[in-house]
Amino acid sequence: MKKILMLTTGGTIASLQTEHGLVPGISGEDLVNFLPELKNMCEVDVLPLFTLDSTNIYYEHWLKIASSIKENYEKYDGFVICHGTDTMSYTASALSYLIQNSQKPIILTGSQKPINLEISDAKTNLLDSFTYACSDVSCGVTLVFNGNVILGTRARKSRTKSFDAFKSVDYPVIGIVKDGYVISYITNLSRETKFYDNLNPNVGLIKLIPGVSSEIFEFMLSHHDAVIIESFGVGGLPMYNDNKINEIIAHYTKEGKIIIMTTQVPNEGSDIATYKVGHYLKENANILEAYDMTTEAVVTKLMWILSLTKEIEKVKKLFYETISNDILFKKD
Ligand code: ASP
Repeated sequence: MKKILMLTTGGTIASLQTEHGLVPGISGEDLVNFLPELKNMCEVDVLPLFTLDSTNIYYEHWLKIASSIKENYEKYDGFVICHGTDTMSYTASALSYLIQNSQKPIILTGSQKPINLEISDAKTNLLDSFTYACSDVSCGVTLVFNGNVILGTRARKSRTKSFDAFKSVDYPVIGIVKDGYVISYITNLSRETKFYDNLNPNVGLIKLIPGVSSEIFEFMLSHHDAVIIESFGVGGLPMYNDNKINEIIAHYTKEGKIIIMTTQVPNEGSDIATYKVGHYLKENANILEAYDMTTEAVVTKLMWILSLTKEIEKVKKLFYETISNDILFKKD
């Protein structure tokens, strides 16, 4: 029988109704007790890490999850992480950079409804996650939700209420789990597993709105090592108000700040050379673009890269390196 470690962090799956709304409170052992069928499937150990709504989860928690997996890596065949859905795709992306090329499956799951409700997706998602964790073809960091196996770097929460809460952005679902069976479309068993144990959280994000004020750029660039700009369409920056925003960008990039252009359009990514509003930015060495990476992957990849180096050429090289299929469409 395979040995699986279940790490619990809170989330709706483990939540109880209180007068202040849902609050995580169901223990990992109790989650396992909801699934008696697990006994015939694998040996499960539980490692409680946090009891948090995932709104409260950030880089320190990602590092703790990664180090807990590292410490237990040799003892187990796979890892199932119970997590709130709201920031699950950020955690999945962060873990994809902190634990690269994992030969063993590291699965994030959760639910839209608590496990103790009669109508809930929790038991199915949890059971599917263990089914996937026990499969010989599974590896890498993935999210198992509503029967779909989604690569960690490609996951995005796209529905706030339906059970079909996650989609895979610009990349196919890598497998499905149905009635206790795994159908794996893509497996990535390849190179040696690599663990990293640091992140630089000093990364900010600006989402453009029409008429966005230049002061936001001034503030964000003066306070962060790298700033991601969620632009419109394939990407560009407004040139109104005497090109003030671009002047600020030019000033801070000369100081070594790193700027990454991405798009707020949900699919197909950036291509900033297409229009004049973006084309000239290509000539500025400190401006990179996300192409088909998710914002979650851009944020966490930058945190990982900036923990290793702040030298622009090295940042650029690592940023455009494909890790867990995070970036496939790239022209640089
Ligand atoms: N607010 C919850 C969380 O992210 C939502 C969920 O788990 O579905 O922890």
